[in-house]
Amino acid sequence: MEVRKVLLSEDEMPRQWYNILADIKMNPPLGPDGQPVKPEMLAPVFPMNLIEQEVSTERWIDIPEGILQILKIWRPSPLVRALFLEKALDTPARIYYKNEGVSPPGSHKPNTAVAQAYYNKEFGIKKITTETGAGQWGSALSFACCQFGIECKVFMVRVSFDQKPYRKSMMEAWGGHCVASPSTETEAGRQALAKDPETPGSLGIAISEAIEAAVSDKSGTTRYSLGSVLNHVLLHQTIIGLEAKKQLEKIGEYPDVVIGCAGGGSNFAGLAFPFVLDKINGRDLEIYPVEPAACPTMTRAPFVYDHGDTARYTPLLPMHSLGHAFVPPPFHAGGLRYHGMAPTVSQLVTEGIISPKAVRQLEAYKAGVQFARTEGVIPAPETTHALAYVAQEARKAKEEGREKVILVNFSGHGLLDFAGYDKYFSGKLDNYALSDEQLAEAESAFADFPKPQHLKSR
Ligand SMILES: *Cc1c(COP(=O)(O)O)cnc(C)c1O
Repeated sequence: MEVRKVLLSEDEMPRQWYNILADIKMNPPLGPDGQPVKPEMLAPVFPMNLIEQEVSTERWIDIPEGILQILKIWRPSPLVRALFLEKALDTPARIYYKNEGVSPPGSHKPNTAVAQAYYNKEFGIKKITTETGAGQWGSALSFACCQFGIECKVFMVRVSFDQKPYRKSMMEAWGGHCVASPSTETEAGRQALAKDPETPGSLGIAISEAIEAAVSDKSGTTRYSLGSVLNHVLLHQTIIGLEAKKQLEKIGEYPDVVIGCAGGGSNFAGLAFPFVLDKINGRDLEIYPVEPAACPTMTRAPFVYDHGDTARYTPLLPMHSLGHAFVPPPFHAGGLRYHGMAPTVSQLVTEGIISPKAVRQLEAYKAGVQFARTEGVIPAPETTHALAYVAQEARKAKEEGREKVILVNFSGHGLLDFAGYDKYFSGKLDNYALSDEQLAEAESAFADFPKPQHLKSR
């Protein structure tokens, strides 16, 4: 009998996160004066214990018991062999997916939401503000804050707020408070509305609003939280890859190919970084972050210094960026509509250690529907991008007649994302692609900023 799924016991859960900053060279984030940011400059925005984690270069960082207790509600997550999908693709490849859709909010995001709420609580914080694109992050943070008795305020990108009313209900079920962004509650929001009252919003604007709401709270007990991009967020997600590695070991497998979709880079990094460590140490494998062709950060935009938000409140981060003012076309994968990319993921791209891919919206939905009709689980629109690339790799394996092992992150289920599926089924979805002119215009946003160095880690 072939293995269908591999489960770990709670005792086998990883007790440490893997910190890639121990193994790669990075350009520092820069402050308004053009100098490297000092940790204390971030103190109004994040609690100091998370800032320490953000800059740590320790390779292994202990996961506190208080975090493990909550993660155990759904972790360790299953590693499942997609036998029926393999059959439908008629491929000699063995496809394994790590199912992060089993968490209460339905995605990988609570892996860091729980950790961040824990450290904020330890630091005496009473309220956390954040932004959300598709609503996955807002619901994950609402869930986590609820577990620790912290107030949660979410600025949700307008287009998703209108498309996905049930995400707001989900946040409210966990006690979170959600408003559409741009809102009239912040200076950044009011400015965006003055510029374009009909704007669909963007993650960049919503981040500006959430940071402003945190730092302008006079009580001193409010902080901001980000669901992707930053080092500590990606660190918390590595529990995914560390579990997957143990699960594959149990059945004597090791991946030839590791694939994850990438918006800010966190679920991809969570699965991939423990395998990137092996690759840095000489192991031969392919690692692919997959992004939408409509928001082609890694595949078409340059590696530059740029702000993480539209109002330019954040430090300059070394990353692939479409420009902090970029408002992506309204395609249906809210979580993949970010103008930048995690600096660590960007660094690995510049060094050629990982190889980014782009897929188009219709190809992604096609792969998502095929997955639903074979494996049964309905993927989030974001996740379908990774699955589309899995299908391409499986076809390649067939052409080459190779028994490849493909490992993919199933970052979340799509049970609250049917507006996009509806449009797909009724033939109303387009293959948005960005023109070279649009790209050049967006990129003028960082033309005058300093340029990062091209560093070599190995
Ligand atoms: C948010 C989200 C993503 C994209 O964010 P990353 O930080 O790149 O992982 C992907 N999949 C799902 C299901 C999400 O909710």
